[in-house]
Amino acid sequence: MTKKTIEIKKVRTRIAPSPTGPAHIGTARTALFNYLFAKQNNGDFLLRIEDTDTQRSEQRWTDEVIEQLKWLGIEWNEGPDIGGNCEPYKQSQRLDIYEKYLKQLLEEKKAYFCFCTEEELENKRQEQMSRGLAPKYDGKCAHLSDAEINKNIAENKSCVIRFKVQNKKVKFNDLIRGEVEFDTGLLGDVVIAKDLNSPLYHFAVVVDDFLMQISHVIRGEEHLSNTPRQILIQEALGFYQPIYAHLPLMLNMDRSKMSKRQGDVAISDYHKNGYLPEALINFMVLLGWNPGTEREMFTLAQLIKEFSIEKVQKAGAVFNTQRLDFLNGLYIREKSIEKLTELCVPYLKEAGLLVQGQISQNKLQEIVEISKTRMKKLSDIAGLSDFFFGDKLVYEKDLLTWAKMGSGEVKDSLAFSEKILSNVKEWTLKSLETEMFSASEKFNIEKGYPEKNKGYMLWPLRVALSGKSTSPSPFEIANILGKEKTLKRISDAIKMLS
Ligand code: GLU
Repeated sequence: MTKKTIEIKKVRTRIAPSPTGPAHIGTARTALFNYLFAKQNNGDFLLRIEDTDTQRSEQRWTDEVIEQLKWLGIEWNEGPDIGGNCEPYKQSQRLDIYEKYLKQLLEEKKAYFCFCTEEELENKRQEQMSRGLAPKYDGKCAHLSDAEINKNIAENKSCVIRFKVQNKKVKFNDLIRGEVEFDTGLLGDVVIAKDLNSPLYHFAVVVDDFLMQISHVIRGEEHLSNTPRQILIQEALGFYQPIYAHLPLMLNMDRSKMSKRQGDVAISDYHKNGYLPEALINFMVLLGWNPGTEREMFTLAQLIKEFSIEKVQKAGAVFNTQRLDFLNGLYIREKSIEKLTELCVPYLKEAGLLVQGQISQNKLQEIVEISKTRMKKLSDIAGLSDFFFGDKLVYEKDLLTWAKMGSGEVKDSLAFSEKILSNVKEWTLKSLETEMFSASEKFNIEKGYPEKNKGYMLWPLRVALSGKSTSPSPFEIANILGKEKTLKRISDAIKMLS
């Protein structure tokens, strides 16, 4: 069994998710790196569904991973939804193929049926551990005669198929980690199938990567320790060895390992919360790849040109959500106002703010326009703009107070604003701003407040219009609300103080 070197005719990469739960953000990053690498080499990128775990695999998770990867703009050349030359692309539909190769290994005595019971195996494990040894299968069933095997099978004894692991040093050259060497002596004979029709991951992955002519296996570091087993299986089957690249682990901010069990790791969560696919792509590529420049924003097309697998780091990549929010904000502000408004509408509807026909498209765009500087994600729009919708605001009256003003003074301030605003002729942002600024100075002089401190007039006004401690300026809000609503809100606030 010797290593066959791959002769690359065409770069072919793949993403091979197991549909046992919501599509993970780590899967999206791996898909992205595979996609970029394939595209920049004029190669093919494949989607293969690894659903050999029939207990845990569900069609809805296959549908979801397809939907979410498409949303991100990552497209494949071959896959279960579009077909291709190496069909089928779902492992559960390839069982006859695996059976053929399992039989080959059994015939060549490179694999064997193992009839050890769970209890027996557990006892052996305990016994080995009590002697201070790392537990591994002792190879008992490797020595059964054909007659014994046939008898056990005839008796319907439950069994698995084990692959004979040779004790040796497996070396391979990882594009990211350089030369990697493993001693397979510690592994023990690995279970590669439950029976001829039920292959397990290590086996199916090797067969498929070969038959689908995968040239580069780019996957997460958690698979690094699987690689030596898979290389031995390749060698036993006479397959070539693909080129490996193991991407760095994704870490939480405290540098602990990100796991599927933690919240907010599903791609769909990011989608639902209003992250833009462009921002996520940009963010994910920086989880391990260093462009070597200060540049922060990359489109998918630019990444196809600029990305290089050699510049991917070995060290874990910290998943910094603040950076994601920052990038998302940049992409949000890059959108045309028409597009951004369209993207915000579902979030406004979901929050019950947008009732059909209640607000014009122009007004809606104005609302989005003044809210967008504060938006980190699309879902923020609801909390940032809710006060524009509906008639009555709910807030604590103390919020109306600026500095050490008493409630009577706040009332005076609001009454002053009311008077000025009811006389404003031209209700535009420009004139509202000019009139209110000069009124504010007059007001301060009249009341003996510091002349330049606009808060005495503008803070109570802004709160009366928004009900919030932070919001756009009162001019911007008044401009969008219109004269009638603006005056109504001021008089509501005055009433609250009475
Ligand atoms: N089905 C494996 C997973 O979801 C893929 C492993 C591989 O890329 O080889 O982790």
